[in-house]
Amino acid sequence: MTTASSLRRDPALTARFLDRVRDLLGPRGLTDDPDLLLPWLTDWRGRYTGRALAMASPASTAEVAALVQLCAEFGVPLVPQGGNSGMAGGATPDASGTAIILSLRRMNAIRTLSADDGQVICEAGVVLQSLQNAAEAAGMRFPLTLGGKGSATIGGLIATNAGGTQVLRHGTMRAQVLGLEAVLADGSVFDGLAVLKKDNRGFDLKQLLIGSEGTLGIVTAACLRLLPAPTGRVTIWAGLASITAARSVLQRLQARLGDVLEGFEVVPAHCLASVLAHQAGARAPLAQADPWNALIEFVTSGDDPVALREAVETVLGEVLEQGLIADAVIAANEREAEAFWALRDGISAAERALGPAMQHDISVPVEKMPEFILAASPALEARFPGCRAVAFGHLGDGNVHFHVLAPAGAVAGVWEETEGKTISAAVHDLVRDWGGSISAEHGIGQMKVDELARLADPVRLGMMRAIKQALDPAGLLNPGKLLRA
Ligand code: FAD
Repeated sequence: MTTASSLRRDPALTARFLDRVRDLLGPRGLTDDPDLLLPWLTDWRGRYTGRALAMASPASTAEVAALVQLCAEFGVPLVPQGGNSGMAGGATPDASGTAIILSLRRMNAIRTLSADDGQVICEAGVVLQSLQNAAEAAGMRFPLTLGGKGSATIGGLIATNAGGTQVLRHGTMRAQVLGLEAVLADGSVFDGLAVLKKDNRGFDLKQLLIGSEGTLGIVTAACLRLLPAPTGRVTIWAGLASITAARSVLQRLQARLGDVLEGFEVVPAHCLASVLAHQAGARAPLAQADPWNALIEFVTSGDDPVALREAVETVLGEVLEQGLIADAVIAANEREAEAFWALRDGISAAERALGPAMQHDISVPVEKMPEFILAASPALEARFPGCRAVAFGHLGDGNVHFHVLAPAGAVAGVWEETEGKTISAAVHDLVRDWGGSISAEHGIGQMKVDELARLADPVRLGMMRAIKQALDPAGLLNPGKLLRA
């Protein structure tokens, strides 16, 4: 087998490899034009930039399989890429320029959709928003959504086991995947698309691929579950005095309306102010600025949406009376509900515009989250003067995005690599001490690969390395991500 290093030393070999790929995929299937490659060499946050030999864009599972075989023959590493909306640099190649980007975006067909069976089979490159639209057109819904839905693809969502804002009720991507098709490192195709309610033939291999970040196989298609379309939803923006009050409200709502409680997101005053300053047309839902806000959503698919609204109003009245909520507004219509969600979904973009920040996507046991935020934020701000710690997101899942914003004047690109790294290590140490995870939903990518190696239980790491070695012995699938060689 040729290796990546021999390819680097031998331009003629590189040219031969690219000719073979071009023959295989046709002119639409391969580009090495630097201008066309450029947007795909940097991650969404602008934190990582790499180089690539070229970008291959196969149009079918057979083409992916043949391409992977060719890469194995020439020893060329592959970096799978969907919408490039990932938050951990997992889809960005390294700086060596020896890898090719394997874009799944041309594989964007919905193969079948059955409202009767509540199932859809779609290719890896289908964008989440397109799937949601297709489900809606069939009177159904796909019960997972997130801020990057306009670019995130099904393959990327599966590869990162994405979460989002409905996990509280419907689970992560893992819970949505009924079957999977993937190309393995030797070019063979794992056909696990058939849906069997019961199947005990040993390991559940699709679960191994979900969340493997392109390091064990290339997801080419998936069978996903659909639910009946909602008949009613009630969306509330509430102002709160503290994160502890937010948790108490969540508990009350879960006890009373748990089967229809779909989302419970927390937004601190600082994040709301950033979005209001950054997002065109954004308006604060409440007259007063409270230290914390909660975006709460209830959804029903039942026959009586009016009953849902009445039930929510009753419980909301109770928590207001108990003083747990300072003020609240129920969205009057769909437009207003969408405007509330736009405030929540706009946090990442607004924060990106503010300047450098170290982002941590962490979880601790749900019941400990308020205590964690109250302890960790001041501790970090005291240790790193001028920094500001903000926590927002999925309180109901025990998962917040815990970001530490750089002090004024910090130089982007330098600060992250110096003080930023020390800050991340400090945050992750705290998370470990509180029994949590350094990656609740974004994955490890290249961003947290060293931190995982530093902090993970050696037994867990050993099992992961053994699986990687068994399925990708040459280490060509997304090298440097999730696990170092
Ligand atoms: P990419 O970014 O292209 O790739 C991500 C990883 O998956 C990489 O390691 C890549 O190699 C691998 N990969 C991609 N496609 C395949 C494939 N077909 N086979 C094998 N491996 C593959 N995520 C959440 O979980 N929750 C949120 O609430 C959330 N909010 C977001 C808000 C915004 C504004 C944005 C921009 C992103 C948000 N994300 C969130 C992150 C992001 O949308 C997810 O990580 C998404 O799952 C990645 O999909 P993608 O197609 O863009 O994948």
